[in-house]
Amino acid sequence: MTRDRSKALYTAARKVIPGGVNSPVRAFRGVGGDPLFIQRGQGPYIWDADGHRYIDYVMSWGPLVLGHAPEPVIEAIREQAGRGTSYGAPTELETQLAELVISLVPSVEMVRFVNSGTEATMSALRLARAYTNRSKIVKFAGHYHGHADMLLVQAGSGVATLGLPDSPGVPAGAVQDTLTLPFNDLPAVEQLFAQFPDQIAAIILEPVVGNMGFVPPQPGYLQGLRDLTRKHGALLIFDEVMTGFRVSLGGAQARYGVMPDLTTLGKVIGGGLPVGAYGGRAEIMQTVAPSGPMYQAGTLSGNPLAMTAGLVTLREWSKPGVFERTEAATQTLVSGIADIARHCGIPIQAGSAGTMFGYFFTSQPVTDYASARTSDTARFARHFHALLDRRIYTAPSQFEAGFTSAAHTPDIIEQTLDAFRVTLPALAAVPS
Ligand SMILES: *Cc1c(COP(=O)(O)O)cnc(C)c1O
Repeated sequence: MTRDRSKALYTAARKVIPGGVNSPVRAFRGVGGDPLFIQRGQGPYIWDADGHRYIDYVMSWGPLVLGHAPEPVIEAIREQAGRGTSYGAPTELETQLAELVISLVPSVEMVRFVNSGTEATMSALRLARAYTNRSKIVKFAGHYHGHADMLLVQAGSGVATLGLPDSPGVPAGAVQDTLTLPFNDLPAVEQLFAQFPDQIAAIILEPVVGNMGFVPPQPGYLQGLRDLTRKHGALLIFDEVMTGFRVSLGGAQARYGVMPDLTTLGKVIGGGLPVGAYGGRAEIMQTVAPSGPMYQAGTLSGNPLAMTAGLVTLREWSKPGVFERTEAATQTLVSGIADIARHCGIPIQAGSAGTMFGYFFTSQPVTDYASARTSDTARFARHFHALLDRRIYTAPSQFEAGFTSAAHTPDIIEQTLDAFRVTLPALAAVPS
């Protein structure tokens, strides 16, 4: 299978865009080879520039819960575009999306829309610091919260793939108040509160991690964080940019029954257009300007095209049975992959939560960043390319999660497992 046109487009792109891409992981550095340039998407499929069709498990890194180009969303975007793309003044659409988000995400009473997940976490942390009048924030190794300076410490995702401990250009001062701990280790959190009494403004985390590969919380861990933050007067922030509307309709907080003070959202909430949001208890959110003194703004925030895409996506996604069917398809996929791997003697750790999943090529249980890194990434890279040759498009990095959509019907899942029935035994034949 030749990918000459993708290759040529990549060569042209590299001359005018750093690395040829506008977000690092897209460049395939974690698996080697050249990235596919995409021409179009429909349902569970994408087509590359050479006309090959693939079943897609990246889904734009999570947002596309209805699949590519879902008719109701595209129609609504078209209609709105005819009325203008931005006004810089309030619209009814913003209130409608806010009301829908509040009805779905249990801890959110008020919400502010921004343009990306990065903006959402930056703003939520500013809010936490303003509200508590404290400076320090706690994050976990391997958790990714966007590319704001203060959060580029032991971040997962592209930073993990590229093996950068940090990024040049981030001044020491920007991260001096960022404390980093291993995930799923409550005693470590307790110790930190003892070490920095009355100084910690907030703990921010991915309640189900997707940016060091898929790593769920241990039973009781999220509740433990809730208890500790409450006891020490710090806010608990769930970064649900990835998990929101994905691990359940109400996000990780609804799935695990633990309510954070603040929640950040992104990806799904924009239905494939650029949106982020942060929300939480009204009493805290009233600190945000112009209600309160904490400044945060955006020229295109609440953009009518993005609001429309988010609204229609969430309305369709929350119709009875849609999420449940997609969750069931995801479980079939993951248990199928695990069974095939076990059958041919390949050590694997596979799991899913709702419509998000992942697998590591390791015999060790994966609970944090250190154990995630025991995965055989060379084996992952070989397997990635074998899947690609069988027209299955997965994240080009071990340290990313996979995503399904309502368009991933049982038939599509079965076709995918047929590919794994070929690629995994072939992988077992090669020493890792
Ligand atoms: C993707 C992601 C972000 C960053 O969102 P962008 O829209 O890429 O800025 C933040 N947090 C989590 C958990 C994410 O998965």
